[in-house]
Amino acid sequence: MLNLLKRSTLLRRLIPGLLSFALVVTMAACNNNQEAAEGGASSSGGDAAVLKVATEPAFAPFEAQASDGTLEGFDIDLMRAIGEAAGFTVEFSSLPFDGIIPALQGGTVDAAISSMTITPERAKTVDFSRPYFKAGLAIAVQANNNDVTSLESLEGKRIAVQIGTTGANTANQIPGSQVRTFDSAPLALQELANGNVDAVINDAPVTLYAIKSGNLNSLKVVGQLLTEEYYGIPMPKNSPNLERINQGLNTVLTNGKYAEIYKKWFGTEPPELPETAPALQG
Ligand code: GLN
Repeated sequence: MLNLLKRSTLLRRLIPGLLSFALVVTMAACNNNQEAAEGGASSSGGDAAVLKVATEPAFAPFEAQASDGTLEGFDIDLMRAIGEAAGFTVEFSSLPFDGIIPALQGGTVDAAISSMTITPERAKTVDFSRPYFKAGLAIAVQANNNDVTSLESLEGKRIAVQIGTTGANTANQIPGSQVRTFDSAPLALQELANGNVDAVINDAPVTLYAIKSGNLNSLKVVGQLLTEEYYGIPMPKNSPNLERINQGLNTVLTNGKYAEIYKKWFGTEPPELPETAPALQG
């Protein structure tokens, strides 16, 4: 009895100590988890040796997955060249296109390169690099379709688009349009090839590449470009990497590396690029 009493007193004395020890251990574990969730290697001062860069690799010839699983494309080569010029290596991670901005906002990636058009709307939530590519939207239809000739002629028509894109925004503004959204541009184009929609609104270089590479030779592109758009590299707001990415981009634009990559993927000399996106001016 006495023994038991003694033991319980001992326990009572030990408990506060044990509890605070447990608390310290739990807090340390939480801290570790938080660091892991924040991406660990992510930089804070703009001098990280490795940058995590998101991309949606279903947008050839900008970003695609080769048969062995490796990433390839204009954006992939360009991002690596920028890293080389600015002193960092790139660790790519694949994300759905509409998950890229949330990932940047959440800080799980440092930047993204995914043919993302610089728009005033997006610039409210992320910071963009200077423009790195000039593109624009185009309408695709079945090769034997002769009644779709312009944006106006798409009124009341069925249009397939990729979710969260400038093409989707444009389609949604057409009066009476029945817009069907897909996770990727190839899926939207396939829907058109299958005859389930009347048109696709998508980035012209990607649609043209898909038709030319033989995947979708029953399709054609209508008329001219609907828009003039510039791609930029989005980063979290106030990113410490904005300056070094812009500096790396300017270096490759002037030292011939950009032109080399452009010729590799598009077979022509690159056009002139403005220093800032016209859409953000004024
Ligand atoms: N350029 C288009 C946009 O920014 C499409 C980009 C994409 O699908 N990767 O919305």
